[in-house]
Order: sequence, then C-alpha cells, then structure tokens
Amino acid sequence: MSPVDLIALSADELATLVRTWGWPRYRARQILRWLYRARLTDIAAMTDLSHADRTRLAAEACIGALAPSTVLTSEDGTRKFIFSLEDAKRIESVLIPDTSSRSTDRLTLCLSTQVGCTLDCTFCLTGQMGLQRNLLAHEIVGQVLAAQRLLPEDRPITNLVLMGMGEPLANATAVEEAILRLTNQSWGVGFSPRRITLSTAGLSSRLKQVARMGVNLAVSLNATTNEQRDRLMPAVNKAYPLERLLAACRAFPVKPRRRLTFEYVLLAGENDTEQDAARLVKLMRGIRCKVNLIPFNEFPGNPHQRPSDERVLRFQGILTRHGLDAFIRKSKGQDILGACGQLGTLPEASVLVRPSGPPSLHSIPIHSHS
Ligand code: SAH
Repeated sequence: MSPVDLIALSADELATLVRTWGWPRYRARQILRWLYRARLTDIAAMTDLSHADRTRLAAEACIGALAPSTVLTSEDGTRKFIFSLEDAKRIESVLIPDTSSRSTDRLTLCLSTQVGCTLDCTFCLTGQMGLQRNLLAHEIVGQVLAAQRLLPEDRPITNLVLMGMGEPLANATAVEEAILRLTNQSWGVGFSPRRITLSTAGLSSRLKQVARMGVNLAVSLNATTNEQRDRLMPAVNKAYPLERLLAACRAFPVKPRRRLTFEYVLLAGENDTEQDAARLVKLMRGIRCKVNLIPFNEFPGNPHQRPSDERVLRFQGILTRHGLDAFIRKSKGQDILGACGQLGTLPEASVLVRPSGPPSLHSIPIHSHS
C-alpha cells in the first residue's frame, strides 16, 4: 500500500486516521502543528511523538511538499516560483516585497488556485490557457509552506492574495479548505483572515462563501457596461452580468473598518476613456470600496495595449475628484512575467503565430500602492 500523504488530509481525516490506529485524539493536533506551524517535511523530526509512534507514522505515511522547480528574481525584488505538481502540471506563485515606507516588512504571496483558468478574460494570459485542472487544497496551502521554507525565519510572509492563476471561486471548496488550514490559530499556518484577499472575476452567487471564509474580497470589474464586459470577460459576464454582480457586492457583509476592493485593468482605447471613469463612479455609488487601477501588463501575442501614464493619471483623477479612492497599482515583476495577468504559458505555437512579436515591457511605475 502506498503511504498516506499527511498534507493531503483535512483535519477531520487526520483525526480519523489517528483514531483507527488507536492513538489518543490529541496526537492529530500535534501532527497538524508540525505540518502547518513548523512546516516539517520529515516525520522523524516530530519530536513530541514517541520513537515508536514516529516509526509507525513514517512506515505508513509521508509528507508531500511542493518545491519550486524554478525561482525567477525580478530586478525589483519580486520572485516568481514555478512549481511542478505531481502530475507534472505547472503553477506559479509570486512573492512581492513591499518597500514603501509605510510597510517595510510587508511580504505578500500571490497564490494560484487552478492550473490555467475556467474563465476566458481576453487580457489575461492564464485565461487563454483554458482550464487544465483545479488545485487541491494542499496544493494551494503548499505554495505558502514552500515559499516560507525558502525564506529566513525572520522574514515571514505577512499577506496572501488569491490573485494568481485561476478563478478562486470556480474552485471554491478547495479554496475554502485551504483558507481553513491557513487561518486556523491553534494548529494551522495562523494567518489572520484580514491579511488574506480573495480576488474574483465575479462569480456572484459564491460571494457568500467568501463572507463565510472571513477574508477580504476584491472584485475584478474591468468594465462599466455589459457590452464592454461581455467583450473583455465573456464567460463570467454572461453568467453574472454587471447588475447581478454589483447587487451581490452591495449585499456583501463588509467587516468594520474594511472595504471592498474593485480592480480595474486599464486597456488603451477599450475601457480607459473619461466616459468609462464617469460610469465607474456611478456604479460604485453606495458601496464602501476603493478602486485599484491596474495598467494592462503586456504579454506576447496579446493585442491589448497599456494606456499612457498620462491617461492613467487622468482616469484616476476623475475617480478621486468624485470622492472615490483610486490607486494605481504599480506592477511588479514584469521582467519575469510575474505581474497580474502574466502567469502561465501558452503552447509554443500559439505564441509564435501571433503577429505582435515580443512584449514591450514597461517597468516604470507610476506610483505605488498596496
Ligand atoms: N480570477 C481572479 C484572480 C486572478 S486575476 C480575478 O479575475 O480576479 C488577478 C487580477 O489581475 C485581476 O484583477 C485581473 O483583472 C488582473 N489582470 C489579468 N490580466 C491582466 C493583465 N494582463 N494586466 C493587468 N492586470 C491583469
């Protein structure tokens, strides 16, 4: 019989296993703490288990761990980890240090939730890969454990964003289980849910699940009319048009002193006009929120273009003049294709046959915001 992978078990499943071995109940919690708190990969190092118990555990179980096959480091300090999963499929996570004066210690890890993506947003590289498969809960948590193992003890990851490859709410069950293991304060990794943000393209019927997880919600709006959103984000907007999405956002129970985040990718000549900005102001009325503007990050073969810095600033100006807090997201890690929308790979041929040639990578940040 092949050994049980302990990291692939939920807390309940581990409790059952421990019971079938006739071990006391607290043994499950001890093991969980080694897995998630100490990030152990070696059963022999579980020093509060007797030698006999460790021997038995090592004979029947193992601890699967993700380890990056490649780590790319950007000139701005951002690091992209490429993980090869058991079935050889690849996912990516991005570690983003924040060096702005306000938060020198902030270290954010951007996690993937699917291999590829269920959705088909036209400006996103992952979206163009199609869905290869959903990640399992332990493959989501594993990205955090692996990244933290590579960091010095005094450099903890402080924030998590579910904004990497995939649509988290298209894989909500695994995501919820992963969040549980990441936030459990007694044996889990121990993140406060306030330091976790889940970003969705707008699977409106599942926002309730996000509320239950207790994490922050970000919604990728990216358009101000259904006609435009149908063009840019066809799959999700057909299922959940703007009215329905905004109604679900209005119903979302935002925690005290928190607010929703709306993300808006700025695409030149597509959604970056003054009319767009004015419509956005109207749509946001009555919602406690801020808007993160993300100037489009280019990647090979994609026809969209990033607006000029001047246009981006003008768009932001309209929002702020109307009392809407709007921040321009400095895109990090573009030189390693680690910025929003740049994660994943297309089949070689599809990159080659497209006409637009190599990417022109803009790396000049306009201004930084978390
Ligand atoms: N599926 C989720 C999370 C992944 S995308 C979602 O849609 O929110 C994370 C963010 O990157 C989204 O706000 C998305 O709109 C943005 N994004 C995607 N492609 C981009 C690109 N090429 N340039 C800039 N931002 C992009």
